[in-house]
Amino acid sequence: MSTTERTSVVSGFYKLPIEKRREFVTHFANLSEDDVKIFSSCLDLATADRMIENVLGTFELPLGLAVNFLINGKDYIIPMATEESSVVAAASNAAKIARIKGGFSTTCSEPLMIGQLQLLHIGDVVTAAHEILKHKEQLLILANSQDKILVDLGGGARDLEVRILDSPLGTMIVTHLIVDVRDAMGANAVNTMCEALAPMLEEISGGKVRLKILSNLADKRLVKATAVFDKEKMGGDRVVDAFLESYTLASIDPYRAATHNKGIMNGIDALIIATGNDSRAIEAGAHAYAARDGQYTALTRYHKNNNGDLVGEIELPMAVGVVGGAANMHPKAKLCRKILGISSARELAEVVASLGLAQNFAALFALSTVGIQKGHMSLHAKNIAVMAGAQRGEIEKLADQLVHNGKVKLDYAKELLEKMRKKAK
Ligand code: NAD
Repeated sequence: MSTTERTSVVSGFYKLPIEKRREFVTHFANLSEDDVKIFSSCLDLATADRMIENVLGTFELPLGLAVNFLINGKDYIIPMATEESSVVAAASNAAKIARIKGGFSTTCSEPLMIGQLQLLHIGDVVTAAHEILKHKEQLLILANSQDKILVDLGGGARDLEVRILDSPLGTMIVTHLIVDVRDAMGANAVNTMCEALAPMLEEISGGKVRLKILSNLADKRLVKATAVFDKEKMGGDRVVDAFLESYTLASIDPYRAATHNKGIMNGIDALIIATGNDSRAIEAGAHAYAARDGQYTALTRYHKNNNGDLVGEIELPMAVGVVGGAANMHPKAKLCRKILGISSARELAEVVASLGLAQNFAALFALSTVGIQKGHMSLHAKNIAVMAGAQRGEIEKLADQLVHNGKVKLDYAKELLEKMRKKAK
C-alpha cells in the first residue's frame, strides 16, 4: 500500500489488520492522533444523555470503510455504519468497476425544504387561497425573521405555494413554505418558521391551522448520480443483458422494487448514520419519491449505451446536513465527515447518491450472475459459527469448513464444532 499517493483505491483492504486500515485512513484524511482515538471510543454518556431521553447507555454498530470511490473527479473513502455483512465490500467493488469509465457524476438541486401548514374550517377556499398568495411577501418576511443565522448564510424562506385538497372533513388548504436550508437538514429551521406563520395565516384566511411541520417528501431537494459500468469488466454483453432483465422487474413490480430500493438504502443508511444524519427522514423521502407517479417503483434506472456498457442513474430527495442535529454532537459523525473530506450538505448528498447507486449496481450484478448468497456466505458462516458457540480461535476455522462443505447451517456447525474440539484434545 503506497502512502505517498492520495487515492481511494486500495486492493486487498479487507485483508489488512484494523491497525493498518486506520493507518490508511489517517494518511488519506490527514487525521490527528486524537481523531484516531475516536475510532476506539464510545459516545460519552453525558452527550448521549443530552441527545435523547431516559438514557441507559449507548448502542454500537460496526463502522467500516468503502474504498475506490471516484465522484466528480475526486477520490472519496466512505465510512459506513451498518450491521449487515457484505454491504461495504459490495459498494467498494462497484466503485472499482465504475472507476474504469470515470467514476460517478452527480448533480444536485438547491437545498430547498418544504414546510406544510394545514388550514381547515375555511369559508370560501378559493378567496382564502388568493388572500394567502397576496400576502406572500409579508409571510416570507415573518418566516425569515425566525432564523437570522440562516438568512445571513444566504438561506431562508424563498416561496409560498398553495394547494387545495378535498378530504372527508371537507376542503382544506395546504400552504407550502419553501425554505433554503443551506447546509442543515432543516427540520427544526422549517418547523420553527411554520409555527411562526400559523397565526398570520389564520388571520388572512379566517380558517384554523392544524398541522405545521416539515414534509419529508423533499422533492425540491433532489440529487442525481450516474455512472457507466464497463461491460468487459462485468463479463460481457450477456451479463449486461442479464443485469437489465433483472432490473426490469424492479421497474414494473412494487414487490421487487421494495427489495431493490432496500438494497439502495443498505448503502445510503450506513453513510447517513455514520454522519449523524436522520435515516428515517431519508428513508421516508426516498420511498415517497419512489411512489410519486402513483406506482411504487425503482429509485434507479439502467440502460445500455452505444458501446454496450451499462449506464446507471439514481435520483432521490436528499435532506442531509453537516450542521445541526446529531451531526455536530456525535464525535464519530464529525470524524466521518473529516474522513469524507466534505464541507457542504450538497457534497455529502452527492456522495450519498453515488453510494446508493454503487450499492444497487453491486446487488443486481450479483443477482444476475452468481446470486447474492455467495458473497454473503463467508461472513454469514462466521455468524453461524459464533451462534454455534465457537470461540475466538475457532470461528474462522469452523466458518471455512462450513463454506467448504457447502452447509452453512446451525445444527451442522454445532456438530462440526464438537468434532473439532474432540480432535483438539
Ligand atoms: P438545527 O436546528 O439543529 O440546525 C439548523 C440551524 O443551524 C439553522 O436553522 C441555522 O440557524 C444554523 N446554521 C448554522 N450554520 C448553518 C449552515 N451553514 N447552514 C444552515 N444552517 C446553519 O438542525 P435542523 O437541520 O434544522 O434539524 C435537524 C434535526 O431535526 C434532525 O436531528 C432531525 O432528526 C430533526 N427532526 C426531523 C423531523 C422530520 O424529519 N420530520 C422533525 C423534527 C425534527
